[in-house]
Amino acid sequence: MKPLIRKPCVVANWKMQGSFEKIETFLKQLAHNMVDVNQLEIIFCPPSVYIDSVKKLILKNKALHPLKLGIQNTYCEQTGAFTGEISPLMAKEIGCDYGLVGHSERRTLFHEDDTLVARKVLAAYHANLVPILCVGETAKERDEGKTFEVLSRQLEVVFQQLSFEWLQTIIIAYEPVWAIGTGVPLASESVEAVNVYLRDYLARYDEKLKHLVRILYGGSVKGDNAKSFFAMGNVDGALVGNASLQVETFLTICRDAVSIMNQ
Ligand code: PEP
Repeated sequence: MKPLIRKPCVVANWKMQGSFEKIETFLKQLAHNMVDVNQLEIIFCPPSVYIDSVKKLILKNKALHPLKLGIQNTYCEQTGAFTGEISPLMAKEIGCDYGLVGHSERRTLFHEDDTLVARKVLAAYHANLVPILCVGETAKERDEGKTFEVLSRQLEVVFQQLSFEWLQTIIIAYEPVWAIGTGVPLASESVEAVNVYLRDYLARYDEKLKHLVRILYGGSVKGDNAKSFFAMGNVDGALVGNASLQVETFLTICRDAVSIMNQ
């Protein structure tokens, strides 16, 4: 049983996939089959260009009102001459409550380093967006036994600039890079070991954080394996990529989250 203080959470990250039509269908089916939202927080991160329309669809349908919106990426400034970037303040204005920061695709494909990630986290907080901070090691780093070292480095730069008030709301998504989009997740016992490490790391900043901060797992979570992660005491939910594109699979993951993490 998870401490009630850490509400289980499932995040759907659609990346640069789908269409407005697909989102409409997804939301319609989600509304018809909504899980117990008192027991689970669901955060939908569609491609940014659709967020405004998605917010309107959510407002039109009462069953969807508890659905939270997240943005997949925001910049480290709120306004200015930054062609093509998205301001956290603007994301908040159109209805986002959460923002992914430091996703491995951003770190790898768009060369975002720890310092930029830290600046983005800070800008998100200033805009009243709660960051979902993604951290994780590459296959090479895991093979070299550097997992904990890498995670500490990724967290350190971010944490040192945040007050307790902010830190207690952050969501951490542990996402081993090699498990994302490959269909091969990390074994649930190994995820648990890492999440325990992350909780102890949080306690170094403040003992209370260990009990307050939600730590998710992401990396090839699917309808047939989500349960194994949710059964672990230190996994508070999942960040789901590919499997969130199919509404039935996503709902299976959400239902498993509700039934297992609220036992
Ligand atoms: C992700 O996008 O963060 C992710 C975990 O993707 P997938 O579930 O497809 O591995």
